[in-house]
Amino acid sequence: MAGHIPDEKVDEIRTSSDIVEVIGDYIDLKKQGRNYFGLCPFHGENTPSFSVSQDKQIFHCFGCGKGGNVYTFLMEMEGFSFVQALKQLAEQSGIELPEQMTDEGPAERSQESQSMLEAHQWLTKLYHHLLKNSKEGQEAYQYLVDRGFTDETIQKYQIGFSPNSKDFVVTFLEKKGYHPQTMVKAGLLSTNDHGDYADRFRGRVIFPLRNHLGKTVAFAGRSIGEQEPKYLNSPETELFHKGRLLYNFDLARSAIRKEKSVLLFEGFGDVITADQAGIHNAVATMGTALSSSQANLLKRYVEQVIICYDGDRAGIEAAVKAAKLVKSIGCQTYVARVPDGLDPDDFIQKNGGERFRREIIDTSDTYISFMMSYLRRDYNLQLEGDRITYIEKVLQEIAVLDRAVEREHYLNELAAEFKMALDTLKEEVQRIRGKSGVKDNETRNRYTNHTRKSSVQNKLLPAFHNAERKLIAYMLKDPYIADKVQEEIGGAFNIEDHQVIVTHLYAYYEDGNESDISQFVELIEDPAVKSLAIELAMAPISEEVSDQEINDYISWIRAEYWDLTDIKNLEAELKKAEQQKDPIKAAEIAMDLIKRKKELKNN
Ligand SMILES: [Zn+2]
Repeated sequence: MAGHIPDEKVDEIRTSSDIVEVIGDYIDLKKQGRNYFGLCPFHGENTPSFSVSQDKQIFHCFGCGKGGNVYTFLMEMEGFSFVQALKQLAEQSGIELPEQMTDEGPAERSQESQSMLEAHQWLTKLYHHLLKNSKEGQEAYQYLVDRGFTDETIQKYQIGFSPNSKDFVVTFLEKKGYHPQTMVKAGLLSTNDHGDYADRFRGRVIFPLRNHLGKTVAFAGRSIGEQEPKYLNSPETELFHKGRLLYNFDLARSAIRKEKSVLLFEGFGDVITADQAGIHNAVATMGTALSSSQANLLKRYVEQVIICYDGDRAGIEAAVKAAKLVKSIGCQTYVARVPDGLDPDDFIQKNGGERFRREIIDTSDTYISFMMSYLRRDYNLQLEGDRITYIEKVLQEIAVLDRAVEREHYLNELAAEFKMALDTLKEEVQRIRGKSGVKDNETRNRYTNHTRKSSVQNKLLPAFHNAERKLIAYMLKDPYIADKVQEEIGGAFNIEDHQVIVTHLYAYYEDGNESDISQFVELIEDPAVKSLAIELAMAPISEEVSDQEINDYISWIRAEYWDLTDIKNLEAELKKAEQQKDPIKAAEIAMDLIKRKKELKNN
C-alpha cells in the first residue's frame, strides 16, 4: 500500500516512533492498566473510550470503532495520504527519505497548494536571513530590539524582514520556479492591472504564521515606517484559514500538556512576549473571534482554558464570547483580566513575566465570577428592577454549570450578597435547568469502565461468532496458535471479515514475520476490516491459553461452518435425490446427515 516505498522503510519509520507519544500530541491520554485512554478525537464523547496500546502500537475506539496504527491515526487525524503520514513521522524521527520516495502520491495535496506551501517555507528563511544579515534589515532589527525582542526570540519565531523593493521577492520566487500567478493566489505577491507583480509584504517586519504542524502557511507584516496599513496579514488561502489557525500551537503544545492549561490571547504579539517572559503554554487567535473548531482543538489537549484578552471594551466583549464558547464545550473556563485597559503584551513588557503570572494568571476569574462582574456593569444594583434582572441573568449562567458543588457555591454567594433565601435561588436554577433539558449527571470522574460496552455487545453475539473473535485475538498474538488453526480449519471462518483477516494473517506469518499487530494491519486494505483486526487485538485475553480452550473455539467455528455448509448442502442433495426418485442415493445422504448432526452434538 506504500507504493514505491519499500516495506523496510515503512517499518523503520513506524518502529522509530511511539504511538503513545504521537497520539499524545493530539489528545490527553491517561494510563489505565496496560493501555492509555482518552477522549476520542473522531467522535464526540465525554467518557474516554479511545484506547492506545503501547505494547501493540495500535489504537482503538470502543465508541466509534475506529482503529489502526500510527499511520492510520495521522491519516484520519490530519487527512493525510499514507505517504504524507510517512513523511511527517520520518521528519519527526529524523529519518531521511531518499528523494524518489518523497514523490507525491495520488492523494497528496494538489500540486498548486504544495507549491504555495513550499514558497512559504522558502520565504520564511529568506525574510529571516534578510533581517539578520542585510543592511536594509538593520532598521527592522533595531525596531524589534527596541520593542524588547531578544535574539533568541527572533530566531525561535523566525521573525524576518522584507526589503522595500517590488521585485526582489518576485525574482527570488521566479528563480525557485514558482509561477507568479500561483504566488498571488498564495497571498505572497500582489498584482496590478498591467500584470506587474510585487512583493505584498515589502518594507515590513515579517512574522511567519505556522500551522499546528509547524509549517508557515501565512505571514503577518508590520510596517516600521510611514507605510499604510500598519498591519498587513496574508489573505485567506487554501493554506490559511484565520478561523482555524491557532498561533503558536505547534510550539506550545508540549507546555500546554505539561501544565494542563492553555492561555488564550488575542494577538500573536502577546504570545511571543509571554513566551520570552517564560510563559510557554500560550496560543492566540488571528484577529478573529474564537471559532468552535479552534475551541475544540484546545479541548482535545486540555480541560482548563484561561482567556486573556485586551483590557479594553472590545477585548472584554470578545472574552465574553470566547468564554461562553469554551464553557459550552465543557472546558474549565477562566478569564484573566489585564488592568487599566492594557494589552497582555504591554503588561508583560512593563512588569515582567513573573508579575504577569502572579497578578493576572493566578488571580483569573472563574467563568461565573467573570460573567457576574461583566453583567454587573450593565445594571444599577441600587434599583430593584435592575437588581432582579441582574440576578436572573446570573442564575441563567449558574444553571449551565455541570457540577452541583460549583452551582451551590455561587448560589451561596448570590444569596449572601442580595440577602435572598438560598432555597428560592436553588429552585429557580433547577427550573431553568429543567427547561433547557440539562441533565443532572456529573461529568466528573470520566475515566470509568470503557470495556463494558463492548463486552455487553459481545454477549449478544452467537457463540461461534465470539469464538472466532477470541480465536483471532489469540492468533494475532501467537503465531503457533495461528499455525494450529490454519492446519485444523484453514480459512473456514463463518464471518467474512474474519476470513479476510486470517487469510492475511497466515500469509503474514508464512513470510516469517513475528506477531506485530501494528505492522500486520498495514496488509489489510479495507479500513473496516482493518479496524476490526485492531479491535480484536485490543480485546482482553489471558496471557496463557490452554489447548482445550483453543480446541473449543475451533469446534464451535467448525460446527457452525458445517451447520452452514455441509448440512445445508446435504439437505439440498437429499431433496434433489428425492425429486429425482433415486431412493438409494437419498438413503445414503440421509445416513450421512444423521452422522453429521450426531457429530455436531458431540462437539
Ligand atoms: Zn471514537
